Amino acid sequence: MKCKLCLKERELKDSHIIPEFIYECSGLYDGKQRFTIVKRTDEGMGELELRQKGLKEKLLCGDCENRISKWEGYARWVIYSPGKSEQVKSVRTRVVLYENVEYDKFKLFQMSLLWRMSVSKLKQFSEVRLGRRHQETMRRMILDEDSGAEDDYGCFMTVIIFDPNDLASNEQLRRFWLSPRRVRTRDGHISYTMFIGGFYYVFVVSKHHIPREIRQLFLDRTNQLPILAATPDEVPDVKGNLLKSLLHLRRSAGSHEFRFPS
Ligand SMILES: [Zn+2]
Repeated sequence: MKCKLCLKERELKDSHIIPEFIYECSGLYDGKQRFTIVKRTDEGMGELELRQKGLKEKLLCGDCENRISKWEGYARWVIYSPGKSEQVKSVRTRVVLYENVEYDKFKLFQMSLLWRMSVSKLKQFSEVRLGRRHQETMRRMILDEDSGAEDDYGCFMTVIIFDPNDLASNEQLRRFWLSPRRVRTRDGHISYTMFIGGFYYVFVVSKHHIPREIRQLFLDRTNQLPILAATPDEVPDVKGNLLKSLLHLRRSAGSHEFRFPS
């Protein structure tokens, strides 16, 4: 079978689409290695899907898995190393700046995440379709380890703080994942949004005239990674889909026990 990244005929691995560390570090797995996906719908009410183990698919050869895994190891350290989540959750300001984040490694991690979702045939990623041109451009960049300019497939990340006074509830809500969705912004930009592992990711695919306020939230070449801090109210997608679904889940006495933040 042909590896999706290097295009060589190789034995393919069961590749994770979402890196394993995101499931592990964010508590997406409960004690039984389960987690819940909220699949978004146009009506705003998501369908819930309880999954065992992360989503995998025959995608990459061993060499390409290794290439990507070194960026994942680095990203794991940047986002979830001890003290990091406490640092983010305890702030009351709008933007937390992570310093000394190696541009190449972290950017390639973000790009490889978007690209894998686009290449995947799994239904959970069906909304992510980059189209042939972008998908091929990204494949080449990832294979050549070319992290591109700041606004080439830039991504900004927002940490969602459900209740700053109740960190335990935050931890529980991080077990939910809002599946990726394609969004066209008012100024015509195609982006993909996803909430997973406590973070709301926005990948901006089109490059023309990205507003300055968005550009300055991308990882920059001076190795600074801005992380926005927001409540669910400030991110309508999370409020509209995730919270509504959780409320519904609680009513129907689902298998997850949690206290809904007031
Ligand atoms: Zn390969």
